Amino acid sequence: MSGSEAFDVVVIGAGPAGYPAAIRAAQNKLKVACVDEWKNTDGTAAFGGTCLNAGCIPSKALLESSELYWRAREEFAHHGIGVGQVKLDLATMQRRRAGIVKTMTGGIAALFKSAGVTGIHGHGRLLPGNRVEVSGGMGATRVLEARHVVIASGSSPIRLPSMPHDGKLIIDSWNALELDAVPRRLGVIGAGVIGLELGSVWRRLGSEVTVLEALPQLLPMADQAIAREAQRHFKKLGLDIRLGAKVQSASVTGGAVSVVYTDASGEHRLELDKLVVAVGRRPFTEGLLAEGTGVKVDGRGFVEVDEHCRTGVPNVWAVGDVVRGPMLAHKGKEEGIMVADLIAGRYGEVNYRAIPSVIYTAPEIAWVGLTEEQVKASGRPYKVGSFPFAANGRARALEAAQGMAKMVSAADDDEILGVHIIGPFAGELIAEAVLALEYSASSEDLQRTMHAHPTLSEALHEAALAVDKRAIDSINR
Ligand code: FAD
Ligand code: AMP
Repeated sequence: MSGSEAFDVVVIGAGPAGYPAAIRAAQNKLKVACVDEWKNTDGTAAFGGTCLNAGCIPSKALLESSELYWRAREEFAHHGIGVGQVKLDLATMQRRRAGIVKTMTGGIAALFKSAGVTGIHGHGRLLPGNRVEVSGGMGATRVLEARHVVIASGSSPIRLPSMPHDGKLIIDSWNALELDAVPRRLGVIGAGVIGLELGSVWRRLGSEVTVLEALPQLLPMADQAIAREAQRHFKKLGLDIRLGAKVQSASVTGGAVSVVYTDASGEHRLELDKLVVAVGRRPFTEGLLAEGTGVKVDGRGFVEVDEHCRTGVPNVWAVGDVVRGPMLAHKGKEEGIMVADLIAGRYGEVNYRAIPSVIYTAPEIAWVGLTEEQVKASGRPYKVGSFPFAANGRARALEAAQGMAKMVSAADDDEILGVHIIGPFAGELIAEAVLALEYSASSEDLQRTMHAHPTLSEALHEAALAVDKRAIDSINR
């Protein structure tokens, strides 16, 4: 083992929670190292974690390509564009996906360099006394002395022994992003965000896709008016979503996957060419904590933290997927920034009530704040306004006049409690609603805010007007 080096802050993990923590800490004039052990399938190391290498970015690259392919086949004719026979070149599509990932992960190395962060490839293990042992990288094992340690070790896919992962036929979300051929019959276990996005990609590219979901309801965390609308569109795409279908086991025989699931009508068997297991993710803390660090991990494997991401051990913090809260890149990013500012003695806070959720299907689904069901259950009197994209000129021009924008506000002081959108670019439109929640805006504030015409954002303006039954471009009910 070589000698030790001293840093103000050592971050373990360079995903979307860890790398912003490292950069902000360096901006705060602290001496920072960020240790990451990510290895891609070709054995190369890369910063960026799950999100850049195997999650948000490659999935969005494929969602975009596959949607263009689908639209070229199904919708171009409506625009009066004839393109002959549309052909799929999956190898090029996958090269584009890989290229985007490489550019983005390389960008983090460049950001580290310019901010003065020491990026280290290797496995980090927290030792008692706020020291971090780094092993398995290029050089010898070394120990970093740290005034502060930020744990940002992320999460990994849940593996179930009854569905043994082989990376070829029974696969996880990462494998499903790197397929080099379109499977004829693709099964997806779990109709969560990841299952629905990956199911959409391969359905658009030609697979027969069956999604098996144990729960009786689709997207239980979303506003149910939006979830019902989503279900209609998934059906139109040809996704065969079977609700109340609990998968018992999956096994590989003769080059195919055999799945056994039960539903209200009994036991069923399904033969598939590939099966994506997307039943959720768990916090990743393997080999992370040496004996005696004092960092507590709860029964589900999450590192325990308070609302400011303090672990309870002085100067040890934890952020991102490895701690409670939604497993989302932007939630981790804000936690990382908050912690880096608190370490530097600055102000830092995360507003956990204004975390946007986005599902990048077509149409997109996005929301922030409380669903109508949650507000109703809370007993607080409320008002609702919604506006269909069918009445929005820009959505018509885009040939994407599907879905709606919906706003829930308090009956007493009109504060916006939740905004729910299914429709074109919902993930972009929700940003205005997040800002509105951050500023405790009322629906009247949005009603009195000018929105450019013709834009999709007018749907949100009209939904705000509809809260008081004063919509202009749709009939108020
Ligand atoms: P991670 O991104 O998992 O990064 C943790 C890093 O720490 C990894 O590089 C890991 O190798 C490293 N590490 C772990 N332990 C150690 C150790 N001991 N020593 C050194 N390094 C270590 N979220 C969104 O917000 N939007 C999306 O569109 C979206 N799409 C997704 C699509 C898919 C298919 C998947 C799988 C996830 C998606 N997510 C999305 C979720 C998002 O990827 C995660 O919420 C996010 O990556 C969490 O960030 P993190 O920094 O906490 O952890
Ligand atoms: P998420 O946690 O949002 O990633 O979604 C995972 C989904 O997988 C949840 O909706 C679970 O209900 C679903 N799920 C988990 N286990 C099974 C199973 N054995 N069979 C079918 N669906 C499952």
